[in-house]
Amino acid sequence: MTSSKVAALPAAPQRDARRIWWNGKARVAGRQTAQELCLELDLAPYRQAQIYQAVCKELVTDPAAITVLPVALRQRLRETLALVSLSPAREVTSADGQTTKFLFSLADGTPVEGVLMRHRGGRTTACISSQAGCALRCDFCATGQGGFVRNISALDIFEQVLLVAARARREGKSLTNLVFMGMGEPFLNYDAVMDAVALLNDPQGFNLGARRMTISTAGVVPGIERFTAEHVQVNLAISLHAADDELRSRLMPINRKWPLALLLAAARNYVAATRRKVFYEYLLLDEVNDSPDDARRLADLLGGPLHHVNLIPYNATDAPYRRSSPLRTRRFADILRERGIPVTIRHTMGDDIAAACGQLRAEGVSRRVRRAAG
Ligand code: SAH
Repeated sequence: MTSSKVAALPAAPQRDARRIWWNGKARVAGRQTAQELCLELDLAPYRQAQIYQAVCKELVTDPAAITVLPVALRQRLRETLALVSLSPAREVTSADGQTTKFLFSLADGTPVEGVLMRHRGGRTTACISSQAGCALRCDFCATGQGGFVRNISALDIFEQVLLVAARARREGKSLTNLVFMGMGEPFLNYDAVMDAVALLNDPQGFNLGARRMTISTAGVVPGIERFTAEHVQVNLAISLHAADDELRSRLMPINRKWPLALLLAAARNYVAATRRKVFYEYLLLDEVNDSPDDARRLADLLGGPLHHVNLIPYNATDAPYRRSSPLRTRRFADILRERGIPVTIRHTMGDDIAAACGQLRAEGVSRRVRRAAG
């Protein structure tokens, strides 16, 4: 199915009606519970469980398709509530078919982005947004260039995963991994992200193992500390991108608030407390942070156990950077390896469709959408 044929879901006629399938495991503060909503809609609790299961396991977003419910009830639900308030506004697929990028509209029309990646080895990964826009203004990032719009709710996050998973399901694939690497800084919307993780994790519901999820932070130290203290089982990735404070502050202004010494101390505490690995993301920018000296500095910084470096190719934005050449990339990786640092060179996915963070919102995509639809 292509974006032009994705029928817009009916807008929720009743505020927060979609909470019907919230099963009570997440903390959705001050909101109507599923039980209260059942009472209001005169719905037996076991019906709520059926709806929740249909949404989470069969990825049904239209009450009419929940075949376990009587027809009259399906009809009534259709008239009174929307199961999902997010709607797919646009989607675009890369020429190689590996990557599909989505622009979703939240109930009030605010756009957020998600990506479906079909890896050659069989993994299927959803990349989703934790905020609408981002306040951190990393110099190389299209989301930062567009600015911060607002925080989004746990269900806004959860529903992005549902819709990406539904897209994969139509191709006979199920999601194997989830990364919080779309728009936004997950640790600046901590509660909503963790509530979404709890929902995604629920064995009676979507049932995605915490270890299949990765939260990526630009380096919000109090968030890392809380994540450590709460023993969240989700993988932790830190976007490092530079191995000295001067350069990192230039690329990522958040470094002025939490410089490398504080950030790496928090990461080391995490490793010590959880015995789990930290993934460091390092975006390679030609002649900016990709010299042999940069690699050596990075290796020196990452002493100690349980870390892994992912070298990320730059996806062009309006910023004046270029992607590092394959040669410089290999040399950087080799230096890390020689120093005993485990490293993976990420291959690009979807750079022909502007699949990097924040780029779909930033671009006019109509031409590409037509191509995907054709
Ligand atoms: N705020 C979080 C998560 C969202 S960004 C974080 O910073 O980690 C997810 C990843 O995409 C980060 O590593 C980010 O630095 C990277 N990224 C941003 N813009 C990019 C670009 N133009 N090309 C490649 N990676 C980019």
